[in-house]
Amino acid sequence: MEVGLTHIYCGNGKGKTTTAFGLAMRAAGRSKKILIAQFLKNNDSGERNSAALLRNITLLPCPENIKFTFDMNDQEKKDMAVYCKGLLDRAFFMAEQDAYDMLILDEVLPAVDSGIIERQTLVDLIINKPSTMELILTGRCEDKSLYNYADYVSEINDIKHPYSNGITARIGIEK
Ligand code: ATP
Ligand code: MG
Repeated sequence: MEVGLTHIYCGNGKGKTTTAFGLAMRAAGRSKKILIAQFLKNNDSGERNSAALLRNITLLPCPENIKFTFDMNDQEKKDMAVYCKGLLDRAFFMAEQDAYDMLILDEVLPAVDSGIIERQTLVDLIINKPSTMELILTGRCEDKSLYNYADYVSEINDIKHPYSNGITARIGIEK
């Protein structure tokens, strides 16, 4: 049995979520079983629509509507913390129970940075993950201490992004 490693894709440049879904596509092409959970996102994206077409990728559902964390009041943050903890626990439970080869936790790192997910909760899950399962964590994060728990760490730098020229998110490219 091969050992499963942990990846972090972070930084302010474009390419974290698309890297994670690219890995899912590559692994699916080798008959691996992939489980994807996305945090603080809704169900509406091109990458989810595509992943749903591949039979060995399983997507855990997202809420229909989601606010930015800085727009949430205290109660909404508490409710979201409970929701995200439930999603995280469900993802690791399913991954172990159903012997997934790869678990992707997209945007889990900003959820830790904003205090929605407790850092130690995620650390414990990383340390105790199934030994053969590949684990992928993505998102912008200030907390570099999580790098200690990963085997691959890629910071994607924002050298240029057309957003600064007023080009907003385009369907099929950003969403
Ligand atoms: P992608 O989903 O395209 O791989 P990402 O996961 O690296 O992007 P996020 O931090 O999740 O980027 O950003 C959410 C949205 O903002 C995405 O639509 C993304 O394309 C876009 N984005 C990424 N980097 C930048 C940037 N430097 N400036 C403006 N928008 C960005
Ligand atoms: Mg992303």
